[in-house]
Amino acid sequence: PSALREIHIEIPKVRWNDIGGLEEVKQELREAIEWPLKYPERFRKMGIRPPKGILLFGPPGTGKTLLAKAVATESNANFIAVRGPEILSKWFGESERAIREIFKKARMAAPCVIFFDEIDAIAPARGYAEDSPAMDRIVAQLLAEMDGVSRLDNVVVIAATNRPDIVDPALLRPGRFDRIIYVPPPDLRARFEILKIHTKNMPLARDVDLEELAKMTEGYTGADIEILTREAGLLAMREINGAGEISMKHFIEAMKKIKPSITPEMIKFY
Ligand code: ATP
Repeated sequence: PSALREIHIEIPKVRWNDIGGLEEVKQELREAIEWPLKYPERFRKMGIRPPKGILLFGPPGTGKTLLAKAVATESNANFIAVRGPEILSKWFGESERAIREIFKKARMAAPCVIFFDEIDAIAPARGYAEDSPAMDRIVAQLLAEMDGVSRLDNVVVIAATNRPDIVDPALLRPGRFDRIIYVPPPDLRARFEILKIHTKNMPLARDVDLEELAKMTEGYTGADIEILTREAGLLAMREINGAGEISMKHFIEAMKKIKPSITPEMIKFY
């Protein structure tokens, strides 16, 4: 029971519109998760088996957590988020039990989305972990729980990783994480959308050209852009005789400090 109490059920408030770009990923998640959770009858009538597990992969800060939360919000589902490393540290020696409890709690809170961030930490491919036998048992428990989730349980698992190359292939068999979706860094249009989202409540000066900023932020992830807009805001705030507005120069100044996290080598990796 101790582990059970530490598993928090959230009701997220992230909407599809809070996520810039990623239109195809959103559509895929709508069809794979939102529709089956909202209209299970229709799927049953059509004889379609919705996926139990979805693996999102891509560079850090591209919106994987945001997507998982939005799926839950838009499906009117509860949300349980667990980070892979936490399963090992927070529930040291009790990790398998923790996995069992997470699924138990999810079933009680159904419809529910379980989000395992940094899944590679608990389910690394062979040879990538120090404590392999313990890890194997955790993966086995996770797979057993996923096999045990039936269509009627209304529990969906989303996992995320930055390192798809080191995820245990056993996870990717049919009936487990059988949808694998790439979450790419934002392109020009997506960066424009993300800039709009994160400056929505900011007093922008008339010279601020978000299209121009989108062009200038090649290689910036959504997370980078969020930090950049905040930094620009802080710079404007620090100006003693400022106009109380954020202008283009603040963004440009902020870009000296906040650098893009995506490099060309990194993209080749995915
Ligand atoms: P990690 O792999 O490091 O866990 P992640 O892919 O899960 O990263 P998020 O946690 O979803 O990334 O993103 C971090 C923050 O960056 C979000 O809270 C959000 O403010 C911003 N962000 C990232 N992507 C987007 C996006 N597409 N649209 C709007 N904001 C975004």
